[in-house]
Order: sequence, then structure tokens, then C-alpha cells
Amino acid sequence: MRTPVIAGNWKLFKTITESVALVNELKPLLANCHGVEIVVAPVFTALSRVSDAVAGSTIKLAAQDCYWEEEGAFTGEVAPKLLKDAGCSHVIIGHSERRQYFGETDLSVNKKTRAAIAAGLTAIVCVGESLAERESDQTFSVIETQIQGGLGGLAADSFTQVVIAYEPVWAIGTGKTASDAQAQEVHAFIRQLIARMFDQSVADALRILYGGSVKPDNVKLLMAQPDIDGALVGGASLKAGSFAAIVAFNT
Ligand code: PEP
Repeated sequence: MRTPVIAGNWKLFKTITESVALVNELKPLLANCHGVEIVVAPVFTALSRVSDAVAGSTIKLAAQDCYWEEEGAFTGEVAPKLLKDAGCSHVIIGHSERRQYFGETDLSVNKKTRAAIAAGLTAIVCVGESLAERESDQTFSVIETQIQGGLGGLAADSFTQVVIAYEPVWAIGTGKTASDAQAQEVHAFIRQLIARMFDQSVADALRILYGGSVKPDNVKLLMAQPDIDGALVGGASLKAGSFAAIVAFNT
């Protein structure tokens, strides 16, 4: 019922030329992958050229962040409508690296998500607990605070343009993956929370991605969980072969 999403977050890697080369390598590898939404998120400077390169393919384009204002004296920021203009259909919001290094808060996530939706983008909103929070049994309360703060007050019908990515901070770029049972437990919690905050039909339709050291050899087990609807992939999305193998999880 929920179309899975596999999204590659290229972080601060790859020049424009390298980004275009990667999607050109991906296109034939992904041409026969059906029933899965495929998204790549290059750096801002490569978006427009990658957009040209993916035209006519099933690969969709995401930015890694946005600002909430449409325009104005906000040096260095990029508005959602400019991301649309560059060819994006998606934008990642609230990634833990932005929370950790760039002062992203639940309030800014909320403003950015609303602005992204208003501009016609799909927001991939990231949440996740740190290792210390998990070890002190705060996982559910941290996730609840992030979701209440980041998505509270949104119109229920705007959830067709929202995807949540559960990314335990301790699993990002560390090679440590949450077990399928650990991930499923949090995904089920998120779906119940969304049902409480909005309604059951919103929760049932919502795609919830897992992120944190997803690789070709662990994706199948994760995707077999009932509440895991896809993956947000960092390191393994930087190579065409490994990203294509993850996208092909159901073959
Ligand atoms: C990410 O950047 O969102 C991520 C999950 O990275 P990695 O797959 O490298 O852990």
C-alpha cells in the first residue's frame, strides 16, 4: 500500500561533474526497478545539472536543506521555491548533522517543513536519538519531542508531502545499524504517534524510512519489517553499485 522510498544523501561529497557521472552510472542500473521511489540528494551546486541528467528517468531529486522564507535579506540561504526551480521534488529537513553542527531545532524543522510543503516539495523530515539518549531509555521521549516540535500543527492533508526518516544518530556513518527489531519498534512508535497527533489514515499512509549504515547486505531484513517503508542512505549511496543494490532490495 505504501510505495517504498530509497533516498541517497550525498552529504558534502562530489563535484558537479562527479554528481552527474554518478547519476549517469545509476540510470541504467535502476531502469528496471519498479514499485520504488528513488531519490538522490546532491550538494546545492550540483542540483540543476543533476536535474538535467535525471530528466526522463525515474530518479527524483532532493536538496539536503532549505530555508523557510521565500526571499529576502537572508545571505547564504536557499528557499524551497528555488529548489523547485532547480528541479527538486524533495528536500531533506532536520538531518542530525544539521541539528548537531548547524543549530537546527525542532522549531526550525517545523518552519522549513511548512515552507517546503507550501512550495510543492516533499519534505523528508529526520528524527533520531543519540547513543546517550538510547542508553538512558530516552529514545521514545526524544522521538516524540522531535516529531511534536517538527511536525506539530501541520495540516493533516499536507502529509501526502511528508516522509519521516528515523535515523538513530549512533548508527549514522558508524557502520552500526539498528537491528531490524530495534528499528521496527521505533517506526511503529512513530506511526502510533502520528495517528494520535493527526489520524489513523494519515499514519497508515505515511512512509517512514530507516537511516543509519544501510548497506546492500542489511537492507532486505530492514525492509521486511512492517513499519519500515524505505531507507535514507548516506555512505552507500555514493557508489552506483551499492546504491542500486539497495534500491533492488525486493528482487
Ligand atoms: C545519512 O546520512 O542520513 C546516513 C544514514 O548515513 P549512513 O548511511 O552513512 O549511515
